[in-house]
Amino acid sequence: MDPLTVTLTGAGGQIGYALLFRIAAGDMLGDRPVRLRLLEIPQGLRSAEGAVLELQDCAFPLLDDVELTDDPRVAFDGCQVALLVGARPRGPGMERADLLAANAGIFGPQGEALGAVAADDVRIVVVGNPANTNALVLAASAPDIPRDRITALTRLDHDRAVGQLSEALGMRAGEIDRVAVWGNHSATQFPDVTYATAAGRPVPELLAERFGGADAATRWLDDEFVPRVAKRGQEIIDVRGSSSVASAANATLQHVRDEHFGTEWTSAAVVSRGEYGVPEGLVCSFPVSSDGSGYRVIEGLPLDERARERLDRSVAELMTERDAVAAWGVV
Ligand code: NDP
Repeated sequence: MDPLTVTLTGAGGQIGYALLFRIAAGDMLGDRPVRLRLLEIPQGLRSAEGAVLELQDCAFPLLDDVELTDDPRVAFDGCQVALLVGARPRGPGMERADLLAANAGIFGPQGEALGAVAADDVRIVVVGNPANTNALVLAASAPDIPRDRITALTRLDHDRAVGQLSEALGMRAGEIDRVAVWGNHSATQFPDVTYATAAGRPVPELLAERFGGADAATRWLDDEFVPRVAKRGQEIIDVRGSSSVASAANATLQHVRDEHFGTEWTSAAVVSRGEYGVPEGLVCSFPVSSDGSGYRVIEGLPLDERARERLDRSVAELMTERDAVAAWGVV
């Protein structure tokens, strides 16, 4: 089998460190050999270099080749899977607008480089935050890359929602299907259990049994489940003393794996084609499926008033972010 060329940005960072060894071990692409291209900014090169030495020491049978560089044109040359993890973190006193601007300055040039030198079949997932709008900037800078090849990660939110349901219902995560995450990867996201099933039974029904009625179940969803999923990142920081790394890396692997090998249902942020009234071009999370050729929005699901209102609120935030980057002429 020919190796697949995988480019990882932010390879010297924490999520990068948690990802590299699992990619090389085959957790993302099965038994397909991989050629790794690692991109870092100059100050991150030394840390990434250390990870490269450790990769060598693991002697992974599937690892074809590793190259580390600070030049996007080299890192994205022939790239087939791009994992865009490196991003500018929010510093003390930094406004959201500054964060958007700093990241637009990273994802714009990366989009241009991908458009110029990546393989025709490239698939891109943006992990670095603010992920949805970073992906929007990237898409605008790479007009020749088909829109359905550009995604942003909301799989961690999806998996967090499954984890919370699993705990509440006392069932294994593997028994829970059809959870949906709508909107932005931010506090406005809407993790939705309307269509979810657990061991084949409707989750809303099981929650009503668990909490003593449909109203009590809705209160649990609104007051505990949704905010806990949306703010789980902060909870991990408070408990662990640093941000979620292993779970973010795991979600990234599952996102790529399911897109590549196919899935009937998961959540991912994709470039909207107007589905569910979300303005075309916004990078928004939807329930999606893949037949192995890329994520497609699962259409035709009924949205009740509660869901509609929450999706609209998150979409309004995405539009504000788009307006901010548009004001600088980035999109
Ligand atoms: P991490 O590896 O912990 O995080 C990287 C990015 O992933 C951040 O934007 C972070 O967002 C985001 N992220 C998404 N989901 C999660 C999650 N659940 N938990 C935590 N983070 C999440 O950051 P490090 O600072 O350790 O590493 C970043 C690396 O990227 C550095 O080595 C830096 O040098 C590099 N970098 C590379 C660039 C490039 O290649 N061009 C450009 C900029 C940086 P959030 O900040 O919101 O937590």
